[in-house]
Amino acid sequence: MNAITPNATALPAPVGLLAELTHRCPLRCPYCSNPLELDRRSGELDTATWQRVLTEAAGLGVLHVHLSGGEPTARNDIVEITQTCAKLGLYSNLITSGVGGALAKLDALYDVGLDHVQLSVQGVDAANAEKIGGLKNAQPQKFAFAERVTQLGLPLTLNSVIHRGNIHEVEGFIDLAVKLGAKRLEVAHTQYYGWAYVNRAALMPNKAEVDRSIRIVEAARERLKGQLVIDLVVPDYYAKYPKACAGGWGRKLMNVTPQGKVLPCHAAETIPNLEFWYVSDHSLGDIWANSPAFTAYRGTDWMKEPCRSCDRREKDWGGCRCQALALAGDAAATDPACSLSPLHAKVRDLAVEEAAETPPDYVYRTIGSNVQPNVRTPLNEEAPL
Ligand code: SF4
Ligand code: SF4
Repeated sequence: MNAITPNATALPAPVGLLAELTHRCPLRCPYCSNPLELDRRSGELDTATWQRVLTEAAGLGVLHVHLSGGEPTARNDIVEITQTCAKLGLYSNLITSGVGGALAKLDALYDVGLDHVQLSVQGVDAANAEKIGGLKNAQPQKFAFAERVTQLGLPLTLNSVIHRGNIHEVEGFIDLAVKLGAKRLEVAHTQYYGWAYVNRAALMPNKAEVDRSIRIVEAARERLKGQLVIDLVVPDYYAKYPKACAGGWGRKLMNVTPQGKVLPCHAAETIPNLEFWYVSDHSLGDIWANSPAFTAYRGTDWMKEPCRSCDRREKDWGGCRCQALALAGDAAATDPACSLSPLHAKVRDLAVEEAAETPPDYVYRTIGSNVQPNVRTPLNEEAPL
């Protein structure tokens, strides 16, 4: 394995590590950000390798580790891995569905020093939530899990991914967060990558619904000041400017897949011809500094117009490379979510059209499927949309 090179010292340190411990999950959300080709259990990194990766992350300056998946508690060694975070002084955040074996392992996770829990909720009404997540009886398990989290005194964040199947429940999500004792609620409009891209027509809300949801959140922020923090992620297709993908490509975050491939963001594998390095072959520091995937879109040198001369280029870093590829057919293009992109009007029209159509059935997330996106893009092709 190569050691960290001197180049790394000139770089800002990564702040966070997203550890996708497994792609196994009892739920099957149609907007899951995991790749369409999910890693199998047989290829997952072993405990010792994860512990080595965490040690290297701490040495690099990482502060937060997001123990994620799939469902991270599906791993038999989740307690050992969490304990390693605590011993290294890494703040650990368990990103969980709260179903399956999550509740049974929670006390042990608390005992070894888990710092925070982020629980996903697919809907407020149980039948709707369980339709979206594709698992019956999930809702009572989630509520029991949340109750134990707050009994233990662990800070709880609820994460609600918003789309046309639950956008009418935004008020309900806020009430639910208060009722469950959460300190923070994420009202995160769907980002159309991975499975959400496949299901875009089934998930796209209309602009009036989006605007209403934003008004509800803004009013609740005032009303619940000091009690509940509400984070709002607005949908790209209706936005004016894009978000800085992962805080800027290769600037803040590293994402390690279950098999040990290291990505600048969770969707980066959708970009063809990018070379990703594995923790089995390279140290994390070497990957951060020198991996072709990390250096490809780091900084601003790779940018084309209008990003290249835009005064926001070091604020949003040109938006999302994966979305640029998906919609414009070019990962180095300006993210078409940006109103300055020549393709932005088409993106907005596409959202309006899809939201007005009868939604197709969900394509649920599954391991071993051969799903191809059935969407009308890229937008720069000559063929009619
Ligand atoms: S989004 Fe749903 S299916 Fe994907 S990992 Fe989270 S809970 Fe599981
Ligand atoms: S042109 Fe590029 S840098 Fe400027 S706002 Fe749009 S995406 Fe951001």
